[in-house]
Amino acid sequence: MNASVLVIEDTPANMKLVTMLLRREGYAVLQAEEASTGIALARAHRPDLILMDIQLPGMDGLDATRLLKADPVTGAIPVLALTAFAMKGDEDRIRAAGCDGYVSKPIQYQSFLDNVRRFLQPRAAMEVHHG
Ligand code: MN
Repeated sequence: MNASVLVIEDTPANMKLVTMLLRREGYAVLQAEEASTGIALARAHRPDLILMDIQLPGMDGLDATRLLKADPVTGAIPVLALTAFAMKGDEDRIRAAGCDGYVSKPIQYQSFLDNVRRFLQPRAAMEVHHG
């Protein structure tokens, strides 16, 4: 079965681009435009990776990540932040909230996909290693 990625992003152009890139690579994509919907989808489907926009209407991506990471159902799912700001202090805030990494917007196709792969492959590699 293809790896699944949940994208939580409120800007339609970003959602469209990210979804297109992921689907072209064969990933199954789930979409949410706000944190509460995204959290519900994450609990219901347990995707292999979550791409989390930081600036969302209502609950922001950092609070949403804290909730996901504190929940035993979703806590082990890697969360990659999608952020337009990647200053040093912002990276610290993103890490402190529990995000496993971040992707800077505007999206650079190749580094974006490299990042996604990096978070999806280690698990498969480990399974091979430990039989
Ligand atoms: Mn946003």
